[in-house]
Amino acid sequence: MYPQIVPTETFERVRAMVAKNKYGKRSTEVKYLLRHKLICGYCGSPISAETGTGSNGQVVRYYKCLGRKRGSDCKKSMIRKETLENFVIDCIVKELSKPDVIKRMVRGLSEAQETLVKDKSCENALLKEKRHTQRVIDNIMSAIEQGVVTNTTTKRLKELELKLEELERKIVTERSKTRILLSEREIREYYEQALRLEPQMLINFLIKQIVLFDDKIEIYFNSPLRVSPDDSQGFSFASETGIMPCMIHNRKEPVLRPIRIELRL
Ligand SMILES: [Zn+2]
Repeated sequence: MYPQIVPTETFERVRAMVAKNKYGKRSTEVKYLLRHKLICGYCGSPISAETGTGSNGQVVRYYKCLGRKRGSDCKKSMIRKETLENFVIDCIVKELSKPDVIKRMVRGLSEAQETLVKDKSCENALLKEKRHTQRVIDNIMSAIEQGVVTNTTTKRLKELELKLEELERKIVTERSKTRILLSEREIREYYEQALRLEPQMLINFLIKQIVLFDDKIEIYFNSPLRVSPDDSQGFSFASETGIMPCMIHNRKEPVLRPIRIELRL
């Protein structure tokens, strides 16, 4: 199985759209980055996004236990949206900067890389077909050199040359699928950058669940090299041009372990 690497141009197009939206109609829309990820540590209810008006008339945004909101006796206090979001993002960045976490991620990636490099059957089949096509072209060429030229031979030669071009394109595509060469630094920089630039995407991608108490927080991560239930997602990595999502299959162990942090706000 191959990872499906989104072609750079597709990725760039999506990124351009996202960037455009940022300054377009989305600029007035407030995003609750941790929505659907938060669970109350005391009663297990989801934590929902709330908007209120402060005493000075300013809009205040916060996260509130849904159980408490609906009248249960849960004592979980509300927390300011910005405070919690910044805290969580800082935690993730810190976690991803730890040498042993990076080491585990790099190890996971290189294992995946090896599996990919092993499976070259498709590329080899294409190379074989290319050699065959080239041989036929050579034969026709020598026939032409010996003076055997008919309309049929010229037509056939054109077809074969087009086929050869097509095969070469396919080989390049196939080779790009088996190349994921990332350094430790690149992986770390990617996650740091992406968290700042595309926090929503990365939070959706990296965070499985956050259990929130008043004095501590537990962050459960998805593995960046996770098994994808619908084969439509996978891990992402950085390239010269930006973020490139791609898929890796058949990895079961999470690369990132859950973390528990004291909440001092
Ligand atoms: Zn609660």
